This record gives sequence, C-alpha cells and structure tokens, in this order.
Amino acid sequence: METIATVKEMQSLSSRARREGKVIAFVPTMGYFHEGHLSLMREGRRRGDLLVVSIFVNPTQFGPSEDFEKYPRDFARDSKMAEEVGVDVIFYPNVEEMYPSDHQTFVRVTEVTRGLCGRLRPTHFQGVTTVVAMLFNIVMPHVAIFGEKDFQQLVTIQQMVRDLHMDVEVVGMPTIREADGLAMSSRNVYLKKPEERKAALSLHLSLNRAEELLKRGEKRAKAVIEEMEKILRSEPSVRIDYIQVCNARTLQDIDRTEGDVVIALAAYVGNVRLIDNFAFQATPNV
Ligand code: AMP
Repeated sequence: METIATVKEMQSLSSRARREGKVIAFVPTMGYFHEGHLSLMREGRRRGDLLVVSIFVNPTQFGPSEDFEKYPRDFARDSKMAEEVGVDVIFYPNVEEMYPSDHQTFVRVTEVTRGLCGRLRPTHFQGVTTVVAMLFNIVMPHVAIFGEKDFQQLVTIQQMVRDLHMDVEVVGMPTIREADGLAMSSRNVYLKKPEERKAALSLHLSLNRAEELLKRGEKRAKAVIEEMEKILRSEPSVRIDYIQVCNARTLQDIDRTEGDVVIALAAYVGNVRLIDNFAFQATPNV
C-alpha cells in the first residue's frame, strides 16, 4: 500500500492506471476508521483494479462552532486497517495542498441541501461537494463509494454528478451498526459516558418504531414522527434537531409515505450531534 500526499503525484498515478485500462474505485473519508468505512473499502476492492481511499478532514464542511479541530484523527491506525482490507493507495493531503491560499471556487447543489442537515449547517454541503469534486478531479475514479448513513450527502453527490456530467458511478452502501443497532460513526468516540451511549441508541429505536408502524400500514408522516418523538423524548439528554419524512430522491417533506421514502433524523446527545435514517420503498396506496 502506498501513501500519497500531493495532488500531482495522485493525478499521475491515476492517469497511468487509466492508460493501463484499470478500473479505479474510490472511497473518500475523513479517517478514524470503523467497520462502516471498511465495508465501503471492501466494496471498492470488489469493483476496482486500483482501490484509492482518501483521508482528509475537510475544513470547509465544518461550521465555525463545529468540531474541525477536535475531530478524531489516527493515521497510523487507519493505514493499518486500510492495508488489511487491501487498499492500494491512501491519498492523504494536508489542508494547504487541497486549499492553496488563493482558492476561491466552490460547488453548490441548491435544492437537496436545503432541508434536513442543511438547515442547521448552511455551508456544510457546499464544503462536501467542493471537496468531493476536487477529489474526483485528483483521483479520477470510475466508481466512488459512499455510505447511506449520510443519506443527504449521498443524494447531494448523486445530484452533483448528474448536474455536472461527471463520468463517475456513485454507489451507496448500507449503514453498518454496532451490535445493539447504533449507527457506527467516528463521532461515537465523543459518547464517553455510559448513559450517553445508552441515550444515543434511542435514534435507532425510534427508526425501528417507524419501520414497525409503516409495515402495519401507517401512511401518515405526522403520526410516524409523533411516535418517534415519544421515544427520543424519553431520554432526557437527547435534544431533537429534526425528524423528517421525505421523498428519497428530492428530499422534500411528504405528508404520506408513498414511493421511495427516507425517514431521517438528527439529535444531540449532550453536545454530540448524531444522525441516522431509514430508507424504504413504500407500497403504493390502494
Ligand atoms: P466520514 O469519514 O464520516 O466522512 O465517512 C466516510 C464515508 O463512510 C461516507 O461515505 C459515509 O457515509 C460512510 N460511513 C460513515 N459511517 C458509516 C456507517 N456506519 N456505515 C456505512 N457507511 C458509513
């Protein structure tokens, strides 16, 4: 496994691989790996001849009061884990390499970024799409793999790729969870106290309840949201940011669950902001 820190070197390695007819698979990450990241890498290994993983904690996707500085980082551990799943190249640039001092270009997807996490984090997705567009130009992948855990991010990137006619196949992979159902996240390390860890599970439990209601035929989004709120409110340390029932492609709120639906939520457990979601195909109304 090779580690590359400069844009030029990464581009020349990718150009060479393309000339040789190799399929480049790419997994962009911010590091501090867990099984969720590894599942994307395994899929990349299956799909590509050259598997590139980037590790870059992207400053432009963090708001001014967010955790950019203290975001967990451990390159030695990450590179060992990546090597074990068969990654060929880790692209590991520093901030100056990605954003030279005269950088002034941003990519903004306007509609699907408005609601959900975009409401509280107004510049977040612009940071994500900008860095992913850069990374696509640097790594030149044929296929890029993202997690459904960050559902709005996945939809936003799919929209960007369509709108900008980028020649990259974007693949979404299911959320990997802890044994009890908590969605894996690098930010789970912030859940230091056992009672916070327990409270965090209520996100998953509320989505389970939503699934149960939908399977029983409940179609009213409002009724589903109310039931989810009850579960989250039973944990005093949980503060709901949003619970939304949306069309899974447009991310617009819907009143009735029809077609491809995603139920997404964000909540604070103490000071830690967590997200989770549940996507499904609702049976048409008869
Ligand atoms: P991050 O390092 O948090 O920016 O995540 C890098 C990639 O891993 C993104 O595509 C995420 O959606 C994906 N990811 C994060 N957590 C999970 C998870 N629990 N299961 C599957 N994919 C995940």
